[in-house]
Amino acid sequence: MKELRIGMLGLGNVGTGVCNIFNMNKSIINSNAGSPLTLSKILVNNKNKKRADAIDEKILTEKASDILEDSNIDMVVELMGGLSPAYEYIKQALMNKKHVVTANKAIMATYGAELLSLAKENNVLLKYEASVGGGIPVLTSLSGALLGNEIEEIAGIINGTTNYILTQMIESGASYASVLKDAQDLGFAEADPTSDVEGEDVAYKLGVLSKIAYGIDLDPTKIPRQGITKIGPTDIEFSKEHGYKIKLLGVVKKKKDTLEFFVQPSFVPKDHLLASVNNEFNAVLVKGNAVGDLMYYGKGAGPLPTGSAVVGDLILIGQHINTHANNLDIQGTNASLKLMGELENKYYLRFSQPAHPETREKLVHLLEKWHITLENSEITPEGELIFLTECVKKVNLDQCIQAIKTENLDCNLENLMLIYGN
Ligand code: NAP
Repeated sequence: MKELRIGMLGLGNVGTGVCNIFNMNKSIINSNAGSPLTLSKILVNNKNKKRADAIDEKILTEKASDILEDSNIDMVVELMGGLSPAYEYIKQALMNKKHVVTANKAIMATYGAELLSLAKENNVLLKYEASVGGGIPVLTSLSGALLGNEIEEIAGIINGTTNYILTQMIESGASYASVLKDAQDLGFAEADPTSDVEGEDVAYKLGVLSKIAYGIDLDPTKIPRQGITKIGPTDIEFSKEHGYKIKLLGVVKKKKDTLEFFVQPSFVPKDHLLASVNNEFNAVLVKGNAVGDLMYYGKGAGPLPTGSAVVGDLILIGQHINTHANNLDIQGTNASLKLMGELENKYYLRFSQPAHPETREKLVHLLEKWHITLENSEITPEGELIFLTECVKKVNLDQCIQAIKTENLDCNLENLMLIYGN
């Protein structure tokens, strides 16, 4: 079989992982692909930077055109990160009829629809398993073994940084700020953690999952999202006392022709599978109407787990080239969309201590006025007010919160969380 040549854009954490997997598993990779796969050229910013010993420095280049315009290169792997120039390079590779693999969730969530149709026009594949959940093969399952199902829900813990921070806060009782600092020192959080802790990274991944499960192009900036920065010791204590674990969930749910999607810190019942996913681990729960509940669990980041997904995509492309199979990417069905607000959930609300006792009555009155019925309410030893709602529409809750703000009460909404699983 003809040798298939790969040009890789980027040789950082994941790129080095891919090289290591090629060194470790060369014969498995070649026999599974049905052709020898060869890493022929690698684009880097700086050729003089010290690289791992296993890297053949002769194949490094600082010119993207050495890869994108080389007619001997069959597949391009984008592992640079960021939107530009990675987006332009992927586009050029596809237009030059090269198959592309990327681990870049920001690109797939922002330009996925355009790039996938460009790939189709040029009769090549664009694959992106590593963009969600690192090494966890959830996209391949959704676009393969699960195609006979209607996907009722996908709920994921798909950001290792925030899961690590929340696990440490729950286990040690330490504050968000101090756990974040430790996570940065240990390399589990970036120097600028904004995209992770504000839920943007999860929104990107949820966009990619929704595209593959439902065929919809969800603008990641339109996904309602809340990060983990407001979670404090009171919330943690309350969740423990009431049998929950706090997790940052990315959820997309289908109900008739409506899709609800959100990124939201949530109380997950302690005995739920998702509650057992700790530290930097990721998990994706998929509910199919035939298969039932499935849970994919594993390492959502790291050079070898992420590299495993990248190499898997390269092998699938190799098989596709060798068998002239049909396009492996699914388009899914187009569901008509409504933003979060249709489905009903229970919520947890924490207000700061009011200066006057009658403020609590005013709050209860406003909640009732907006049909937010309460299952329970408590006053913490510090005087903060906690309300647990019955199942309510998020749209009503949002309007109620807005009304509370305009009343200028002498307390503020400090945190809001969803109660998952009912
Ligand atoms: P990284 O360590 O920062 O590596 C980036 C690489 O790209 C470096 O080799 C850098 O070259 C090269 N590069 C960046 N800009 C370039 C430019 N303009 N021209 C030429 N080369 C350029 O990144 P990473 O952690 O491997 O992540 C790569 C991608 O995988 C990202 O999209 C990320 O979101 C995704 N991902 C990562 C993980 C993970 O565990 N890290 C998990 C899942 C997905 P130099 O080496 O010369 O600086």
